[in-house]
Amino acid sequence: MSFSHDLLFWYDNNARHLPWRSFPTPYRVWVSEIMLQQTRVETVLPYFERFLTRFPNLETLATASQEEVLRLWEGLGYYNRARNLLKAARKIYSDYDGQIPSTAKDLERLPGIGHYTAGAIASIAFGEPVASVDGNIKRIYSRILALNEPYGSSHFDKTIEDYAQTIIPHNRPGNFNQALMDLGSNLCLPRQPLCLECPVQEYCLAFQQGIQNDLPVKIKKDPLPHYEVCVAVIQQEDKILLCQRGESGMLAGLWEFPGGKLEQSDDSLEDCLRREVLGKTGLEISVGEKIGIFKHAYTHFRITVHAWQAKPNSLPLSEVPENCRWVLRDDLADYPMGKVARKISDHLTSNGISL
Ligand code: SF4
Repeated sequence: MSFSHDLLFWYDNNARHLPWRSFPTPYRVWVSEIMLQQTRVETVLPYFERFLTRFPNLETLATASQEEVLRLWEGLGYYNRARNLLKAARKIYSDYDGQIPSTAKDLERLPGIGHYTAGAIASIAFGEPVASVDGNIKRIYSRILALNEPYGSSHFDKTIEDYAQTIIPHNRPGNFNQALMDLGSNLCLPRQPLCLECPVQEYCLAFQQGIQNDLPVKIKKDPLPHYEVCVAVIQQEDKILLCQRGESGMLAGLWEFPGGKLEQSDDSLEDCLRREVLGKTGLEISVGEKIGIFKHAYTHFRITVHAWQAKPNSLPLSEVPENCRWVLRDDLADYPMGKVARKISDHLTSNGISL
């Protein structure tokens, strides 16, 4: 008996039934692993099904437009993943004859595939015996080893990486990595791990020492910064103004209602709104009724978004910047947006707000 034998035996009897597992082609495994980055399995499931229905293979994805890929990704967050998935698909299609590379080393050369994802794809889809260490697996191994080092420190990371690569079996490495993923989701939970049901309890030093609840050692983080943001739903005749974000940075390529962050120099939220809209669209506006307040938390900060109705004071429709577009309200659903912009858009539609 060994750690991997016991873990795989448990996996064979308890594996979660997931669509990419029942038919693990390289393409399906790759798409699922990109979607699963920073995202829970339950959230990914409907997106995966929809994405695979529209893009069932590499060719259909490689020949799609970025706009369509982003629209299907909308709500899943971390939109760079979608842009990189498309870039990588086009690269595989043109440079690799449509064949997804089969080793972790080659996979890491593709956009959006880091060390963890490369290991996951190579082991699951191609049977390469490489470790795939994400936050869940760091937690499990820090407990197995009773590693009393701060989480994320270089010594912590190196110890875990080395251990993970040593312990990976050459027989069924993909199932072994997936078994660890399931162990982290179902039993070796961040708080109160369910050690009495754990198949690798006898190898776990933290359990033996009764310190599993104290590991991994986390350094207390500062609270997330918070920003007030003002946006305008500007209407001219029967159209609403949307602006597309730049090609890089957060929410790149998505559409939004123009606006921006409150600055200390702003006398009021409405001042902020007029200043931001003028800077981003060249339009001077008259601020109308407030539409609502929308809150959202990103990984590194939180925002409270204040949305107003507005009308342009002058300029004809054609004189907005190239990245902005007047669109019919019924067409808002066709434009890929981040969570907050979509909430505002849905609010306009579902509440039938007359602008
Ligand atoms: Fe995690 Fe407990 Fe299993 Fe150790 S015994 S690996 S702490 S669930």
